[in-house]
Amino acid sequence: MHIPVLLNEALQYLDPKPGDNFIDCTVGEGGHALAILKMTAPDGRVIGIDRDADMVLRLKESAKALAVNDRFLVHHGNFSEIGDISNQYDFSPLHGILFDFGMSSWQLEESRAGFSFRNIEPLDMRFDRTRDTETAASIINSWPEESIARIIYEFGEERYSRRIAKEIVVSRKKHRILTTDELVGIILRAVPRKQKGIHVATRTFQALRIAVNSELENVEKGITDAINLLSTGGRVAAISFHSLEDRRVKQIFREGSSSGLLKILTKKPVTPSDEEIRGNPRARSAKLRVAEKI
Ligand code: SAH
Repeated sequence: MHIPVLLNEALQYLDPKPGDNFIDCTVGEGGHALAILKMTAPDGRVIGIDRDADMVLRLKESAKALAVNDRFLVHHGNFSEIGDISNQYDFSPLHGILFDFGMSSWQLEESRAGFSFRNIEPLDMRFDRTRDTETAASIINSWPEESIARIIYEFGEERYSRRIAKEIVVSRKKHRILTTDELVGIILRAVPRKQKGIHVATRTFQALRIAVNSELENVEKGITDAINLLSTGGRVAAISFHSLEDRRVKQIFREGSSSGLLKILTKKPVTPSDEEIRGNPRARSAKLRVAEKI
C-alpha cells in the first residue's frame, strides 16, 4: 500500500470543508483524495486525475467498496489538461487543488514499467502506457550521445552524465539495451564505485523518467492552469520530490504573488517530520508548498 506523503500537513493547508470541491491532480492510490472526501462529506466532490491507466483502474475498483462513488470522479488523463478536464465535470466553485508528484509505491514496485533499478524489467518508464510515445529504451537506443548526456545531467543532476552516456553508446553498439538491469550494469561500469548515499543508478533513472514523461513541462503547465482555475480563496498545494520540481513550483508561486494573483502560505517549504520519514523513507525528500488565490 502507498502511504500518502505529508498528508496531515496538506490537509491542514487545504482545509477542506463540507461541500467543497477539490481536484487531486495525481490521485494515485487515492490516499490524499479519500482523506479530502471524508472532510468534504456529505456533498463535496473530488476529481482525481492520473496519467497511469492501470492506476486509475485499480483505484476505481477499490473505491467501489467505499460510499464515495458519486462524489469521487476518477479520470484518466494528464494534469497538464486540468482546464479541459474540470470543464467536463462542471466543477466550480473550486476550493482546492493538490499535486503530489513522483510515483506511487505500486508503480515503483509492481507496475513492471521499469521505474525501479532494483527490479529486472523492460526499460519503459511511461506513466501513460496506453499511448505509443517515447520510452526509456527508445531514448537510450536511439538518441545521440550528447542528448543522452544532457538529460542525465539536467534532469538527474548527475555529475558522471558524460561517462554514463558514453558507456551507453558503447554498449548499444553490441546489442540493444532493453532492461533495467542492463542499464544498471552500464552505470556501474561508467561511474567510480564506493559512492556514499543514494544508489549510483538513482539519478539516471530519475532523469529518464522525467524525459520520457515531459514531467517538468507538465508541472509548469499544470500548476499555472490550476492557479487560473481556482476560485477566490481557493488553495493550491504541491508536494515535490526533487529540486527541479520544487524550483518550478516556487518560481510560479512567486510570479503569482508578485502579480497579485496569489498569497503564498508557506514561506519555506513544509517538510516531513522525522517520525514520518522513519515510517515512510519515500517521504524523505518531500517538500510541500501552498498558495491561496486572491
Ligand atoms: N497522492 C497519491 C500518490 C500519488 S503518486 C496517493 O496518496 O495515493 C503520483 C501519481 O501521479 C502517480 O500515480 C502518477 O501516475 C501520477 N502522475 C504523474 N504525472 C502525472 C501527470 N502529468 N498527470 C496526471 N497524473 C500524473
